[in-house]
Amino acid sequence: MPRMSYKPGDFDLVVRRSKTGLGLFAASEIPKGACIIEYVGVELNKEQEDKSRSKYLFEITARKTIDGAPRWNTARYINHSCKPNCEPNIYKRRVFIHAKRRIKPGEELAYNYGKNYFNEYLKDVCACPKCKPEKAAKAAKKSAKTAKTAAR
Ligand SMILES: [Zn+2]
Repeated sequence: MPRMSYKPGDFDLVVRRSKTGLGLFAASEIPKGACIIEYVGVELNKEQEDKSRSKYLFEITARKTIDGAPRWNTARYINHSCKPNCEPNIYKRRVFIHAKRRIKPGEELAYNYGKNYFNEYLKDVCACPKCKPEKAAKAAKKSAKTAKTAAR
């Protein structure tokens, strides 16, 4: 496997409306393994992190966290998916987003935010391609049950 690059390529990315608010989309093809973008923001220490109410925190080490809330952090628009096409990698205490597979123009970028974030914020609302059908199936089952009960 070739060594991974930690220098974001010059890819065309666009922020536009997605299923869950705004999202970041590829406007041109991105090869598998490519470094797409750095997740930048304001550095917080442990104490600042504990006080922060930002939803864009990215923990680098036990003592260093990046708050990616500023709008100049384009990577903040990348949404969560349980079956993502990107993955974050920490390198020299910075965060880079890489393509897990080839990404076609028009595809929305997504990475897995991790278990803690998922359980805290996304468990019941995740609309990723993996969760959505599961939820729809569950809801259908539930309404079928309700209909049955009502018919009785
Ligand atoms: Zn999901």
